[in-house]
Amino acid sequence: MDLFAKMAGHGFGEVHVRRDEASGLAAIIAIHDTRLGPALGGCRFIHYDDEGAAFTDALRLARGMTYKAAITGLALGGGKSVLIKPRTPFDRGALFSDFGRLIDHLGGRYITAEDSGTATADMDTVRTQTRWVTGVSKEKGGSGDPSPFTALGVRRGIEAAVKHKLNRDSLDGVRVAVQGLGHVGYYLCKELNALGAKLTVCDIDAARVERVRAEFSATVVDSTAIYDVDADVFAPCALGAGINDDTVGRLKVKIVAGAANNVLAEARHGDALKARAIAYAPDYAINAGGLVNVAHEIKSYDETVVRAQIHKIYDTILEVLDRAQKADISSHIVADRMAEERLAQSAR
Ligand code: NAD
Repeated sequence: MDLFAKMAGHGFGEVHVRRDEASGLAAIIAIHDTRLGPALGGCRFIHYDDEGAAFTDALRLARGMTYKAAITGLALGGGKSVLIKPRTPFDRGALFSDFGRLIDHLGGRYITAEDSGTATADMDTVRTQTRWVTGVSKEKGGSGDPSPFTALGVRRGIEAAVKHKLNRDSLDGVRVAVQGLGHVGYYLCKELNALGAKLTVCDIDAARVERVRAEFSATVVDSTAIYDVDADVFAPCALGAGINDDTVGRLKVKIVAGAANNVLAEARHGDALKARAIAYAPDYAINAGGLVNVAHEIKSYDETVVRAQIHKIYDTILEVLDRAQKADISSHIVADRMAEERLAQSAR
């Protein structure tokens, strides 16, 4: 594995690595950019067969956080940590305490949060060792689950895309196909239903489907059929890479706007959406509500201020889509440019 070439390829200067036999910690903390502020990004705790893949994940995800914070107007840089999950028994408390001490050594250059494989309880453990952690439980002075805030931002982004593409100021009667009814998907359905949108939904978890069907009168389709639904908006809220060679030609919607990270399997699928005149709200711009929420946790937390800032995701998505249309380029490229403009301004 050519570490330094990999780092250069992702535009990096700084990666911290720690291994501790006793706790089982195998940590990679990637700090991509701190021009706008300290690097904030979640902690992923999953199995990896290959250390190189873990390293690449940390670099890729940290870079994404730089862009997300920049386009959202936050005074934060981009970072991410990957902890390789042990395959032998381990003490979770000891491992996350050790991770907390590593973060503390960095003196605030990196601030952690939840991500795949970690939960509020882990952040509470990290908090025993360092103040540079967000996503801590409400009982421990944190802001708790960020998903409702992510969902609020996605709803605002959908409203902006509907304004841009359908020239409508309301979601009343707008048909939205929601893929994935987990933490964010459920709250998104709640937001959309309250504004009169008509929902078609799917999940591979039958209990989650039933809850949304019963509470919001949603139409249910099989998970394999969600791409074929005749609707105005497709809202991916499950896994990444939903827009790929198989699915992009099947879509009957005018808009793709949802919470999932890495919606485009490859960048060229953003161009394929454009070629089909489907407006795409770039993932990291529309799903930043949870990041806004945890960003406020570092300072003094005020939910009213948080919600007001998340509402501005409407303006960001509208600007991305309007600029993309005027310049006749794909929206995911415009989003990158807007983030880079802000980073360049801060450098000046
Ligand atoms: P989650 O795990 O709670 O929910 C995902 C849901 O998708 C689950 O209910 C799962 O059963 C379902 N699912 C999995 N495969 C599916 C398939 N093939 N078809 C239909 N449903 C399927 O995750 P979440 O926290 O709700 O996050 C959803 C997405 O949003 C992820 O991509 C995540 O990275 C992204 N995201 C989440 C947040 C947040 O605040 N939680 C913030 C930003 C981005």
